[in-house]
Amino acid sequence: MNVGDALGGAGLERREARRLLAAATGIPEAQLVAHPERAIDDASRARFDAWAARRKQGEPIAYLLGWREFYGLTLAVTPAVLIPRHESELVVERALERVSANGPCRVLDLGTGSGALALAIKRERPSARVLAVDASPSALEVARGNAHRLELDIDWREGHWFSAVPAERFEVIVSNPPYVASGDPHLVQGDLRFEPAAALIGGADGLAAIRDIVRDAPAHLTPGGWLFLEHGYDQADAVRGFLRAAGFEEITAWRDLAGHLRVSGGRSGGAR
Ligand code: GLN
Repeated sequence: MNVGDALGGAGLERREARRLLAAATGIPEAQLVAHPERAIDDASRARFDAWAARRKQGEPIAYLLGWREFYGLTLAVTPAVLIPRHESELVVERALERVSANGPCRVLDLGTGSGALALAIKRERPSARVLAVDASPSALEVARGNAHRLELDIDWREGHWFSAVPAERFEVIVSNPPYVASGDPHLVQGDLRFEPAAALIGGADGLAAIRDIVRDAPAHLTPGGWLFLEHGYDQADAVRGFLRAAGFEEITAWRDLAGHLRVSGGRSGGAR
């Protein structure tokens, strides 16, 4: 069996077949394209066939491979965590604008999952003290593993949103909370079918977690501290309303690469 036959016979989209074959064989994708006649050993072939079969059942590539790139970091992912999305890099970018490069800034990531937001911020701002919360012990295990491998020092806390950090305040709070409505048809399509429901579903209207986080955030921000949240493509108006009701100022929403308002944020007017 050679590369060309494996790619052609996999029954997968060409690009996905190449990614899986590269991972199964250790041969870079460019080499696979350049040398379709190259032979594949039996062990690699077996690995590729097993992945291809699972992929055809819909399993996300990130779960098959066990990793995903996020903000230049290679993160381990398992079905215990949401697969980090490109859109979430926008949260990192907005946060980095508010985390000073040399001061002892305190940053909180709520619902950290794989640790993506916390780890990316810590890597860019080593002097920041970064805390990350998740209610799922198995998610925290994945996040801890990532931090260990990347040699990034994060303070991990298990708990439900702010209950894990009752008396603490932060200069910057970030979150990619669950924001899909429980009846959303996307939940039974694509990667979402395999991802943890607790990381996806934000109650009947998708806004339950965001509503709670925005309401409680001012009590956990230093005066003038910033909150940045990812949300659904059609939720920016609702999130703006929550931020305004909680006394936030300079409320802004930012577009993802698809042109959707995907991240909103604001500056705390102080605890109330
Ligand atoms: N961005 C995910 C999606 O594909 C949802 C992630 C989340 O709920 N935080 O819809």
